[in-house]
Amino acid sequence: MKSKAVFLDRDGVINRKPSEHRYVTHVSELVILPHVNKFLSRVKKSGYLVIVVTNQRGISLGHLNHDTLADIHKCINNKLNNYIDAFYYCHHDHHHQCACRKPKPGLILQAVKDFNIDLHKSHLIGDSQTDIQAAHAAGIKNAHLIPSNSSLLKILDNT
Ligand SMILES: [Mg+2]
Ligand SMILES: [Zn+2]
Repeated sequence: MKSKAVFLDRDGVINRKPSEHRYVTHVSELVILPHVNKFLSRVKKSGYLVIVVTNQRGISLGHLNHDTLADIHKCINNKLNNYIDAFYYCHHDHHHQCACRKPKPGLILQAVKDFNIDLHKSHLIGDSQTDIQAAHAAGIKNAHLIPSNSSLLKILDNT
């Protein structure tokens, strides 16, 4: 049987988004947004996989490396009861023209392959149009745009 998933953007959805052209480069800069824990606990109880899809061009720009990013993701998951099943990230910059940097659907499609996900039963939540575009390009109709650094619980009230 296929699984269903809630795809989440990271910065501005799970943790506080740094200001424009700034990046989370160390675990000390992580601030988990309010109610994320509660949101994820409900989502997991409803049988969804939780998958993070995030653009991290800071790696390409030399602000952090893959190991540091892995530490940051481990730290996020520790703070969230390990509710997150997987993190997928794009480390490329615009000019690399990769297939994974959102609005491209590559990160989502890789997760679909790895977890045998039914996109029709899945959702994506993001705080920028490129998240929504990636969802639509992958075939997710249930794409929810939220204001940056807001509460995910509003999504539950509306669905
Ligand atoms: Mg974001
Ligand atoms: Zn990429």
